[in-house]
Amino acid sequence: MKTLAQLREEINKCVKCGTCRSICPTFRVIGRESASARGKLALIQSYAAGELPMSETYVRHIKECTLCGACMDNCPNGVDTIGIITAARADAVERQGMPYAASFIMKTLLDPGRLMPMALKFASRIQGLLLKDSSVENGLLSRFSLPVIGGGRLLPPLARQFFLDTPEAKALFEDAEKRPGPQGGAKTVRVAFYAGCGVNYLMPEVGAKSLDVLRRAGVELVVPSAQTCCGMPAFSMGDVPTARAMALKNLEAFEAAGFDYITTSCATCGHALKHLFRGLLGDDPELRPRVEAFSAKVRDITELLVNALGFVGKGKETDISGKTVTYHDPCHLNRAQGIRREPRELISNAKGVAFKEMRFPCGCCGLGGGLSTTNYELSMEITRRKAEGVRDAGADVVVTACPGCIVQLRDGLHRYGVDAKVAHVVDLL
Ligand code: SF4
Ligand code: SF4
Repeated sequence: MKTLAQLREEINKCVKCGTCRSICPTFRVIGRESASARGKLALIQSYAAGELPMSETYVRHIKECTLCGACMDNCPNGVDTIGIITAARADAVERQGMPYAASFIMKTLLDPGRLMPMALKFASRIQGLLLKDSSVENGLLSRFSLPVIGGGRLLPPLARQFFLDTPEAKALFEDAEKRPGPQGGAKTVRVAFYAGCGVNYLMPEVGAKSLDVLRRAGVELVVPSAQTCCGMPAFSMGDVPTARAMALKNLEAFEAAGFDYITTSCATCGHALKHLFRGLLGDDPELRPRVEAFSAKVRDITELLVNALGFVGKGKETDISGKTVTYHDPCHLNRAQGIRREPRELISNAKGVAFKEMRFPCGCCGLGGGLSTTNYELSMEITRRKAEGVRDAGADVVVTACPGCIVQLRDGLHRYGVDAKVAHVVDLL
């Protein structure tokens, strides 16, 4: 993983053409140069040259970014804007530390082996005291004006039973221990399922449906029990050591049992498992071949179902059958993994579904890069265009492939009064 000092040449590749301004969601809302990739690179360049101190304003500017990757995708010079912005965030955390609450959450709460299960189980029991039911798909609204959870934000309820505690998942832990390698006879495809925090703590039903679809697609499933957070939240906030520790723990949890594939229903987790782990662990010569072998097996669930298992058109009737459906491309699936065709094939061949593209399906939902925590109002302004796109497409349901996008879209549709549901691709199968 390159430091800011090592990225100086990369920063100098920016010729200040401004192409990135036209597609940047934060620049579109704020309209200030520092909100664009070009502006951020200029600030980071001055800071790295010692011409600009590390100030609150500098840190605020480098946080005003969803890490959506649109600038990088459209840059004629191929500048690694994401690498530079995340290195600048890591540098800021190294020099200034993280706010105590954020550091505590990253280091302890997001690790299921530590405080997470206990703390979140407790929180799931008391959430009714702080939050009240909303009519929107069982989302919760704060009863009080509180930081982070206030401001009319529609919060996803914590699951009563976390995915990794469900009998379906636990049965597959035991299978993992009993079966050291592929079975004899006909070769079955062995697939390990990675849940991620969104599925585990907020949407266990997406995990259960994923297992059900994969089973119907004919694979032998395992859920490694020692899996933990993918590290992307910590990495996005600049906490590289915590992200690295999480990557290593996951590598160890998944590499033993000889899987053909490792799959996930979370676009962000898939991007982390495929790419971030290589960046975090690949500098170590002992870990490099292990992480290469691990990452090469990772497939998003839509990619696995379409390209490896031929599951197109084989889904069953669901409660979305008969509805008009549109699709939101998660940045971490579309740009980070290059997966656009596969979810669309699954949706347009789902039983009884009318598929209609919305305007800017690949526009960022506003959640990424920690923006919905660091600047909720800005993140919701970015979601506005998405909500309008869903409304104008006349969709009953907007489908996506990332629990994070689902949370943000539900909140945005609620805020902007768009009467549509939000679902995961597996809900159609
Ligand atoms: S598109 Fe690339 S080269 Fe042009 S200003 Fe943006 S980052 Fe610099
Ligand atoms: S990553 Fe996205 S939000 Fe951040 S500067 Fe680039 S285009 Fe803008």
